[in-house]
Amino acid sequence: MQKIIDGKAFAADLRADITKKAAELKARDAIVPGLAVVLVGEDPASQVYVRNKGKQTVECGMLSFEHKLPDTTAQDELMELIDKLNNDDSVHGILVQLPLPKQIDENSVINRINPDKDVDGFHLDNVGRLSIGDEGIVPCTPLGCLMMIKDQLGDLSGKHAVVVGRSNIVGKPVAALLLQENCTVVITHSRTVNLEEECRRADILVAAVGRPEMVKGDWIKPGATVIDVGINRIDTADGKTRLVGDVDFASAEPVAGKITPVPGGVGPMTIACLLHNTLQQACRINNVAVPE
Ligand code: NDP
Repeated sequence: MQKIIDGKAFAADLRADITKKAAELKARDAIVPGLAVVLVGEDPASQVYVRNKGKQTVECGMLSFEHKLPDTTAQDELMELIDKLNNDDSVHGILVQLPLPKQIDENSVINRINPDKDVDGFHLDNVGRLSIGDEGIVPCTPLGCLMMIKDQLGDLSGKHAVVVGRSNIVGKPVAALLLQENCTVVITHSRTVNLEEECRRADILVAAVGRPEMVKGDWIKPGATVIDVGINRIDTADGKTRLVGDVDFASAEPVAGKITPVPGGVGPMTIACLLHNTLQQACRINNVAVPE
């Protein structure tokens, strides 16, 4: 097996599988999974994400509904749209692109989404289910990390996993998933004492910090599996910018057993897992089995 985990190829395989299952679902049950993406405001990065999501949704044979609202949108208007999508039978997944403009309370909006359509897995119902190990919707980036780790390592029982970062969207759900897989999990953060030493104990190290190239090669146990969630844009000497992760790839790659690059590692898995969640929910909402 290759040392560098090819997230782009993994995501392409996952999308191919989803495309096949979506076609079977249509032929067998006349159900076409539908994903609604809501974008409020003009944030350029969010616009790119939304465009990519829509394109890949359609490529997988699913329906894509895009709702673009001005950044002056009031909370009530957004809530009304969520209610409409909750009641629309052709919509099986609802994603509200974050961040939202400051006049809107993100938590209220997320928790207004029908938990069965919350394909981002951020609704309190789904957060609670993940926390108690009940079946629910798992957030996309953490799910992508777990899929890649299991693909590389198989059974994770007893592995020592260290997660750097404790955000609600990445660090905590990744830790919950690894715990469900019977890893011994340590969650670290900005107040952790001796972070480097904690990292050196990891068989599986997941970095979700948002600090360019913070995790160095000498923080890594030889042979460890390193998953770099970070996406950071840094300026280069020639006046351009380049994407780097939270792991210093140049020093980490020779030490790690397996490692994800940035770009081309975790990033492509996020949208693929969003489509995976949408297909699963289309089946669950309609009470039919997911095609084999
Ligand atoms: P947040 O800013 O929400 O959380 C960052 C976490 O890192 C916090 O828990 C913080 O600790 C911790 N942290 C910050 N500085 C340090 C430090 N010096 N030492 C140890 N811990 C530290 O970020 P996200 O979780 O949302 O995102 C993390 C990274 O992942 C970002 O680069 C983001 O762009 C990327 N990302 C990538 C995605 C993808 O699709 N691949 C999807 C989502 C995010 P504390 O809690 O104490 O403040």
